[in-house]
Amino acid sequence: MNHEDLRLWSKRAADWAADYHATLRSRPVRAPLVPGAVFRELPAAAPDEAEPLEAIWADFERIVPGGMTHWQHPRFFAYFPANAAPASMLAEQLVSAMACNGMIWQTSPAATEVEQVMMSWLRQSLGLPEGFVGTIHDSATTATLSAVLTMREQALDWAGLTEGLSGAPVLRFYASAETHSSVDKAIRVAGIGQANLVKVGTDHDRAMTGAALQAAIVADRAAGLRPAGVVLCAGGTSVGAFDRIADCVAVAKAEGLPVHVDAAWAGSAMICPEFRDLWAGVEGADSVVFNPHKWLGAQFDCAVQFLRDPGAQVRTLGLRPSYLETAGREEIVNFNEWTVPLGRRFRALKLWFVLRTYGLDGLRARIRNHVAWAEKLCAQVAAIPGVEIVTSPRLSLFSFALKEDAATEALLQRINDDGRIYLTQTRVDGRFVIRVQVGSFDCREEDVMLVAKTISDLMR
Ligand SMILES: *Cc1c(COP(=O)(O)O)cnc(C)c1O
Repeated sequence: MNHEDLRLWSKRAADWAADYHATLRSRPVRAPLVPGAVFRELPAAAPDEAEPLEAIWADFERIVPGGMTHWQHPRFFAYFPANAAPASMLAEQLVSAMACNGMIWQTSPAATEVEQVMMSWLRQSLGLPEGFVGTIHDSATTATLSAVLTMREQALDWAGLTEGLSGAPVLRFYASAETHSSVDKAIRVAGIGQANLVKVGTDHDRAMTGAALQAAIVADRAAGLRPAGVVLCAGGTSVGAFDRIADCVAVAKAEGLPVHVDAAWAGSAMICPEFRDLWAGVEGADSVVFNPHKWLGAQFDCAVQFLRDPGAQVRTLGLRPSYLETAGREEIVNFNEWTVPLGRRFRALKLWFVLRTYGLDGLRARIRNHVAWAEKLCAQVAAIPGVEIVTSPRLSLFSFALKEDAATEALLQRINDDGRIYLTQTRVDGRFVIRVQVGSFDCREEDVMLVAKTISDLMR
């Protein structure tokens, strides 16, 4: 295959993509779960001889789509969305054609400079104050890891980087139990140790309060431990919890601790000013992560981290060996110095395409619809006999359950085997509940209301 062949096959792929999206509603959202079905279709080793693309394409069509869970399905209500707006797919095609590695400025100045401008556009769109600058990671997990490593090194006066942690004091971090497991992972990977991530208790609203945070810090200081940083939850994955950001930031500031805010899902909603009360006080944080690849439509992967001052993170993660220098241009930004990996994809292009194609108004209209439809749907689900709403809508996320865990679990199974919609579970105070989040880029009101119909059809 050469580039002339690619010209033809790309057109075929574009047609395939259009047909795929046009027929999504007729497909079951979640893949039929038959372990090994795809595995068994593939030869055990790579071919020695070249194969014709016709054969590869035919196998693709025969084997792959039927084994996919369709994340772009308009009736995907599971987890959180991983939206791919058509404009972002187009941008990714162009990125794929150029296939750059934007690890430093000179390895593609456009990749770095578009990223800088997109970070400024997004900062303004979210209502974050001037002064915050941003970069793009592959995932919120990596952004949170970067923030935790930075907070660790600030607490150790950068000795951890050179001396390691074996002789270092025990550092303590604070987060509520509503934060995502990526915080636990970051704490483990950063060598802090799970036991030193203090899960601060939450109030009736599943929020960490300033008072609870303060008490945890004071207790640790009294025990001779060294508080090092706070991670706040702005839109928890389980049921959408928000910590009391302003109060917690104030406590952290008074205690001299840096703050990272995880708004991976809910951050996108902050392009709508009316939702910003939920994270009021965020402007006092040192680091904020949100995933445009979730609700905003800039397809996976695209996780944005805003930093009040990138200096500490660059000091923690940045290395500039001679083979990565750009002679005579020491002042330019090399984004790899802000992140864990060296190599980086040109992820900013899809943001540019998405923000321009739909405009902030178009993106806001979608998110506002999702929130309004989630509320309407919640009322319909509440009216189904035997169903209890366990957590009411936080933005576009709510949860429900039947009386007994086993019955709820069996209902979820029936719903997902049915295929019209896809929902997933979580636990709320130990109880098995079904989550519903509305956020698919192309969903319509009737797609959302079909959730209530499906549930009542399958209640027995
Ligand atoms: C999805 C999510 C994450 C993890 O995101 P990745 O980009 O997949 O690492 C972290 N925190 C919250 C609140 C999330 O919703």
